[in-house]
Amino acid sequence: MRRVLAASVLLAVTIALASPRVGLHEGFTRLVFDLPLGTTYRISGQGRTFEIRIDRIRLEANTVEVESPEVASYRVIPTIAGTVVQVYVAEGVKEKDFVLKGLDAKSFRLVVDFIGKAPAKPRAEPKGPDPPKPVVVIDPGHGGPDPGAVGYVVEKAVTLDIALRVKRLLEASGIQVVLTRDRDTDLAPPGLKDLWQRKITDLKKRAAMADTKKTLFISIHVNSAPKPAMGIETYFLGRAIDAEAQALAVWENGGGEVGRKLTRETETAADKALKDLLAQANLGFSQKLAEKLQKSLTSETGSPDRGVQSAPLFVLRTARIPAVLVEVGFANHPTEGRRLAASSYRQKVAEGIARGILAFLSSGAYAYTKPAP
Ligand SMILES: [Zn+2]
Repeated sequence: MRRVLAASVLLAVTIALASPRVGLHEGFTRLVFDLPLGTTYRISGQGRTFEIRIDRIRLEANTVEVESPEVASYRVIPTIAGTVVQVYVAEGVKEKDFVLKGLDAKSFRLVVDFIGKAPAKPRAEPKGPDPPKPVVVIDPGHGGPDPGAVGYVVEKAVTLDIALRVKRLLEASGIQVVLTRDRDTDLAPPGLKDLWQRKITDLKKRAAMADTKKTLFISIHVNSAPKPAMGIETYFLGRAIDAEAQALAVWENGGGEVGRKLTRETETAADKALKDLLAQANLGFSQKLAEKLQKSLTSETGSPDRGVQSAPLFVLRTARIPAVLVEVGFANHPTEGRRLAASSYRQKVAEGIARGILAFLSSGAYAYTKPAP
């Protein structure tokens, strides 16, 4: 224990205090870090993300939605070498930093200001183009030769019906929706005869739609289990934490040998993402989106909350935007399966999904996930 502690001191000192302090001022948002004298740091910025790298000091991991006019949110990421703080800002925000005397002789204050654009003078003539609208990709799972789960309902039919309902609800709120499919089909070319090859091609095409021109990606599925269960689960990309989540991933990745192979590939991709700061930040936002969806879906439908967790789901593997997969209920549960057959219940599910998406888009995380102009 002692040896471990000594080794970690060599690498970086952990400061348990939640840091930085945030100050909201007219025209700027200020982050203040209290640091030991001699601490070195670097600040860099690119587009709407600024990065503050602090050497040898490890701050407590944290994600904070600031929601000021200048700063949407920031994320504190402890690393082996120290800490990286990623700050997601509004368009046109500039950064200015300086140091001040510390609260005692052994420390100093690093002050980082994020300064907004000067308010534009009101004009009579109409302004330039509107800010980009969010574009949400809705992916109704399975389709065509792949029915998905079969129980009291057939998964591919339920997911398509719910997706079309979500599309109508979101469009009514001014959000653009792209469906991966809008009828009973898969995305593989018609000539491809091998069902496994079809499945792989199909999943790759769906996954490729989660590019940076879009805002969010939501894959809709219906669960099934050997032991009938009931409830809603939402997943983001990562390793499975239990055998059930692992089995679900293999099944949704095509099942059988192909499912196991794609699951292994996805696990490797998920491990890689955890070593890349931008991918890691995107996973954080995916988890946030999953939490919003799970909350609004369970409260809208009254279905049991089976939680948010990570799983190596192939369709989420290459997403460059917040991406989740939601299991809206169990096809083979005598109560829930029958509920899913009713259009009134599917409307509730769709409303839960649409509300969760709107809740995420109106949170501070959205500034980061807005499509690039
Ligand atoms: Zn499925």
